[in-house]
Amino acid sequence: MRFTVSTRGFCDIIDITSRIEEAVRKSGIKEGICIVSCPGSTVGITTIENEPQLLKDFKELMEKLVPSDKKYHHDDVWGEANGFSHLRSSLIKPFLTVPVENGKLVLGQWQNLVLLDFDNRPREREIFVKIFGK
Ligand code: ZN
Repeated sequence: MRFTVSTRGFCDIIDITSRIEEAVRKSGIKEGICIVSCPGSTVGITTIENEPQLLKDFKELMEKLVPSDKKYHHDDVWGEANGFSHLRSSLIKPFLTVPVENGKLVLGQWQNLVLLDFDNRPREREIFVKIFGK
């Protein structure tokens, strides 16, 4: 299955946990794995506690690791000035695998699945969810 998410870009963080849980429930699969993937070279998927101060920390971490106000070689190529967006995506990666047990995602109590949009403009993102098992 797949679904679409509208983002504001600029390290927008969107909780997609309930959408993925719903996909697992609908699949009827009790034991297996769930792969979540977003096609795109300026997007990321990770897990984090969905707590506003921590989300702020995460955004600040991205600024420290790959500053958005620095000039990157890629910025000269297309004139998009989103070199930092691509580098963040490569670091975080745009896919994730989570085990499924007893028909549910195996996640910690405060562990949420989030989509990160690193691009420098609002985007429509399509998220693919593949569930394998029995
Ligand atoms: Zn680019």
